[in-house]
Amino acid sequence: MGALSGVGVGRGIAVAKVLRMPEPLAPPSDEPLAADAGAEHERVREALEGVAHELQARAAAAGGDAQQVLEAAALMAQDPAILDDVRARLDGGANAERATWDAYGAFRDMLTAMGGYMAERATDLDDVAQRVVARLRGVAAPGVPQSDEPFILVARDLAPADTATLDLERTLALVTEEGGPTSHTAILARSKSLPAVVGVVGLLSAVADGQRMIVDARAGTVVLDPDDASVAAALAEGESRAAASSAPITEGALADGTKVPLLANVGSPKDAPAAVALGAEGVGLFRTEFLFLDSSSAPSVEAQTAAYTELLQAFPGKKVVARVLDAGADKPLPFLNDAHEENPALGLRGIRALRATEQILRDQLTALANAQAATEAELWVMAPMIADVEETEYFVGLGRELGLRTVGAMAEVPSIAVVADQVLEVADFVSIGTNDLTQYTLAADRQLGSVAAFQDPWHPAVLRLVGMLGEAGAKAGKPVGVCGEAAADPALAVVLVGLGVTSLSMSASALADVRAELLTVTLDEARERAARAVAALSAAGARAAAAA
Ligand code: PEP
Ligand code: MG
Repeated sequence: MGALSGVGVGRGIAVAKVLRMPEPLAPPSDEPLAADAGAEHERVREALEGVAHELQARAAAAGGDAQQVLEAAALMAQDPAILDDVRARLDGGANAERATWDAYGAFRDMLTAMGGYMAERATDLDDVAQRVVARLRGVAAPGVPQSDEPFILVARDLAPADTATLDLERTLALVTEEGGPTSHTAILARSKSLPAVVGVVGLLSAVADGQRMIVDARAGTVVLDPDDASVAAALAEGESRAAASSAPITEGALADGTKVPLLANVGSPKDAPAAVALGAEGVGLFRTEFLFLDSSSAPSVEAQTAAYTELLQAFPGKKVVARVLDAGADKPLPFLNDAHEENPALGLRGIRALRATEQILRDQLTALANAQAATEAELWVMAPMIADVEETEYFVGLGRELGLRTVGAMAEVPSIAVVADQVLEVADFVSIGTNDLTQYTLAADRQLGSVAAFQDPWHPAVLRLVGMLGEAGAKAGKPVGVCGEAAADPALAVVLVGLGVTSLSMSASALADVRAELLTVTLDEARERAARAVAALSAAGARAAAAA
């Protein structure tokens, strides 16, 4: 029995046998074709046909979005233009693996150069090429493995393409050697309510297919080859946690009755029904970019009014916090700012970009005020990336001028925490965007894998900034919420409340786990955990200290 640890996602427990995701294949050798060319042609033809059949069969079994992805991949394995290229390369003396690899590689480069949707499909060609080469070699194909039994998926990391074919019926948990709390695997696990532990150093060298494993997402640990007593204890604890998470929906609260409203993050009005069904007490972050991102000019006031009204109508009498357009950096929007910037995350983005094109902001605030007047929801409006009290005064002034009742600031730039007392004199509320706050506090681009380890909201520096905002909110008697991914981490949610945060907003799928976890502590206990976490020396140290 051996244990390894990493970063847990969620609070569930899973016990099952491991299935490992095969490693990507090494590139084929450049050895010229030694065998008879006719026989190589035949081997490649058989391999391509086999891959196409296998993908078609999986498509038929999958249904939904996965079916389309797999059917498209099956067609790629039979594409006549690619086949011609493979044959030409074989005739030119390349070996079968090399000819296939290079032919698919050439098409992938062509699609990548086309940009947009075509470029997004480019990695699917790599996947098909890997499958064909695996067949030629007689080894397991890369990609998500299939099984008739429930299993725990162990991988280096999951790519977006892998997730379309993940069998959610049989995958009980995800465990990866790489990736952090904001990695694709972690986001997937959160959105599907799957227990996961990511960033488990030493995992791949310690685990083999078929080995039994306990995954404890709350503890961030995996136990290999557990004895029967440990398995029985884990299953019992897992059942009790699952029962707590599926308990009847109540308002968010701590064990001592302290209320902590639990709200949902939504990206468009169509997310509202799921949020309501999962017990969201309102919306803590309505990302309004959906209306803007696919258009070449700002949508009209009428179109915006209709969309905002549709969302607000789903929450009569409840709070809905709308964020005005957050363009720039990870959400580029050419009609707002098309200047080339060396460091767009430090450039004209968020409130700065809106201020530079004030009419777009005025139109959006007008549409939000129209929706406020037309519905029963309690609309709060906030601006992204507010840095100080001057920007707060600008935004709050404009919001009030245009008829909005509750106007606040998002805390994403570290400076706002330092002057939180000044900001909270002017703003009606603050909502902390921990994704950007972490990015800027640790100077680590949230889109860059090489610095993903720094993108951890458990870092004591981030927690201390949250604490400064919480304290200023308490002094001013104004709400300070969190709407970044951090709120969806049950253990961190407790710490945030201990730091003075008054509401939590997250993807609706995380609500049940956070609700259950909050009920396990009193406010005093949450404060004790927070005090231990901010005194820690690292993000990992803070996690461990909070759990101790
Ligand atoms: C954040 O930065 O934490 C946030 C909620 O905003 P977004 O993720 O949309 O930038
Ligand atoms: Mg943000």
